[in-house]
Amino acid sequence: MAEQVRPEQQQEPPGLTGPMVPQPDHGEDSYRGSGRLERKRAFITGGDSGIGRAVAIAFAREGADVAIGYLPEEQVDADETARWVREAGRTCVLVPADLTHEEQARAAVRTAVDGLGGLDVLVNNAGYQMARRETFEDVETDEMDRVMRTNLYALVWVTQEALQHLGEGSAIVNCSSIQAYQPSQSLVDYASTKAAINNMTVNLAAELGERGIRVNAVAPGPIWTPLQPATQLPEKVASFGQDTPLGRAGEPAEVAHAFVFLASAVTGSYVSGTVLGVTGGKPVF
Ligand code: NAD
Ligand code: MG
Repeated sequence: MAEQVRPEQQQEPPGLTGPMVPQPDHGEDSYRGSGRLERKRAFITGGDSGIGRAVAIAFAREGADVAIGYLPEEQVDADETARWVREAGRTCVLVPADLTHEEQARAAVRTAVDGLGGLDVLVNNAGYQMARRETFEDVETDEMDRVMRTNLYALVWVTQEALQHLGEGSAIVNCSSIQAYQPSQSLVDYASTKAAINNMTVNLAAELGERGIRVNAVAPGPIWTPLQPATQLPEKVASFGQDTPLGRAGEPAEVAHAFVFLASAVTGSYVSGTVLGVTGGKPVF
């Protein structure tokens, strides 16, 4: 895949898909399902845009009904994801909520489960970072708090609530990052949450194995999503991903396959406690 021209650009968090140049590829024209998630019910946090939207489209085409979590200000992106899920003939439950608040996070899971009539797959994909800073002293408490609450606390709350519904054959897929292995200076707090997510993935897999629940994570490299123009310096956006062995940023569609592989009992039945890198060649060990 040739690298597309990416002009300098900036948005404010959480960022939207519409203003992005070029538009990301979520697999709208390319993803073909083969029944790997037939009749499954999946809740995908951050399913409105980026990697989460690509996962929602892939899951729906694999036969799953889907609920997507997102922030209220992302409604336009959530509606677009829902359109693709419904075009695949599947249900899409919309769950606007700010997951940094415990009550909202727990209620979001209940709304998803009510709408889907149960739960088989949880994708903890919502995430936040802030990279517009130069030194460690630039890390502000409010920003760090948002990073920790979005990436770690919400994952705990959502997973605890989901465990009341997940049973034998269910799967949890967390979203880690290359940052867990090669932390960038500007992302010191974010990177630490992703390392913690790897650790939690292993812990949870060990605990939930006896209940027949598999727990894994995907570690994406640089992927072209709204998170990037919303949180990186504009000049970093222009060169985004060029430092990978494959020499380019990845598209959300290229990450979705890994989530399907791990979520599906067809392909992932003996895979638990692992982190699968989709990094354009950067090492995840
Ligand atoms: P994205 O902005 O499209 O998706 C992140 C989503 O998180 C948002 O759409 C939003 O709905 C959700 N979110 C953020 N804060 C929230 C809150 N308080 N309450 C509810 N939802 C909230 O960007 P993305 O890159 O697709 O991010 C998805 C995941 O991928 C994140 O966990 C991110 O850390 C991870 N990741 C991204 C990259 C990359 O280069 N894009 C690389 C490695 C890992
Ligand atoms: Mg979004």
